[in-house]
Amino acid sequence: MTSASLHQSVQAADAVVVITGAGISLASGIPTFRGSDPGAVWATDITVLGTRRYFEQDPVGSWAWYLDRFGGLLRHEPNPAHHALVALERWAVARGRAFLLITQNVDCLHEAAGSTAMVKVHGTADRARCVAPNCAGAAPAGSLAMTAVDFSAFTAAPVAENLPRCPRCGALVRPHVLWFDEHYTDHLDYQIERAQRALQRARLTIFVGTSFSVGITEMALQTALQRGQGIYSIDPVSRPPHPAVSWIARPSEEILPELAALLMAS
Ligand SMILES: [Zn+2]
Repeated sequence: MTSASLHQSVQAADAVVVITGAGISLASGIPTFRGSDPGAVWATDITVLGTRRYFEQDPVGSWAWYLDRFGGLLRHEPNPAHHALVALERWAVARGRAFLLITQNVDCLHEAAGSTAMVKVHGTADRARCVAPNCAGAAPAGSLAMTAVDFSAFTAAPVAENLPRCPRCGALVRPHVLWFDEHYTDHLDYQIERAQRALQRARLTIFVGTSFSVGITEMALQTALQRGQGIYSIDPVSRPPHPAVSWIARPSEEILPELAALLMAS
């Protein structure tokens, strides 16, 4: 499959959903954590350490691990694949077509590139939230900017008395991300209902840089198969799990700019 066939499919679809995973951020220098790239050294520990259970057992260890793995994410820049998805969104909106980007990534590269019709279904690395049930900074609707939380003492000495605390109520804060033992419905920011509506309505679903290993990709794939949608997967390595998925086995930072150029020329 090529960007030309993808272009034809986009032209023909009045509703498009794009689902991105870690692969789209690889060219921005963020390791996928699951694949075979050099940064994927902790592929086995994320499903143990990236859990609410671990945070509740050992908040010091949880925050130390999280900041070590994710603290540097906000230093990275969008790559041509992120920018091309902004072009696709603008192309679709200008033609009155439905478009939604659903990202599994907690980095902020889609927003930095300029995407606006998007759902961060696994949360976001630039926010935290309070664990006290009735605080305005807590689930199901509240969150706190990471910059509003004082990490200085914890960074200097990661011990229990230095754990980061809610500036509103003083309770512990936690990362504003979906952990492996949690549910998409746990926080309104994950916007799972909006994502599901868009998936139901789509005529074309495009997977980008995802290994189909988490709940949202399985949900999206099953919806697309049941509804007979066009389905593409752009990923240089991972073969899609179903023969109905058209596989473009090249990096998204090459394919998506090609698609954007074809759309601009048409
Ligand atoms: Zn609070």
